[in-house]
Amino acid sequence: MKIRVEGLSDAPVVLSAREPVADYPALAGVQEAGECAFLEPLQLDFRIEKQFGQIRVHGHVATKVRLACSRCLADYEADIVSDFTVFYSKSSKMPVEEEVALTEEDLISAPYDGDSIDFTNEIEEQVLLEIPYKPLCHEECKGICAKCGADLNAGECGCDRSGNGLAFSALKNFTVKR
Ligand SMILES: [Zn+2]
Ligand SMILES: [Zn+2]
Repeated sequence: MKIRVEGLSDAPVVLSAREPVADYPALAGVQEAGECAFLEPLQLDFRIEKQFGQIRVHGHVATKVRLACSRCLADYEADIVSDFTVFYSKSSKMPVEEEVALTEEDLISAPYDGDSIDFTNEIEEQVLLEIPYKPLCHEECKGICAKCGADLNAGECGCDRSGNGLAFSALKNFTVKR
């Protein structure tokens, strides 16, 4: 998504769009790498306004992905939602950026060149930040049995997992050294 800076008045502009993930190379890349599958296009709702000579952009990005749980390996769906604010300033006006960065940490500032701002990079970055590094189907996921591979969320498989697990022997060594 892009906006032409020229012609922006002081009145806020609201932009909404639904764009395919294929338009976002970094997102298409993680999908191709198998990290997740995008189930919906990106829903983009942006509010853009001029402020103190900068362009203040509040963005809302939402989509849905399918992830594989890092504990039990089951596929699950998750909503990806991100809200962010970016101050764009002409590349030559960098001192303003420092000021903004010092006062409000969660605000991002970025330069732009020419007469339009392309939001592609920011959108990609925000979505990638929301994709969990170690996905969990739910907080309490019990994972799979190290012995028989059964999904322990479905119930106890009956294996005796005490004593032989890697994690347990590491813990035992630790206690001995104490
Ligand atoms: Zn799980
Ligand atoms: Zn088992």
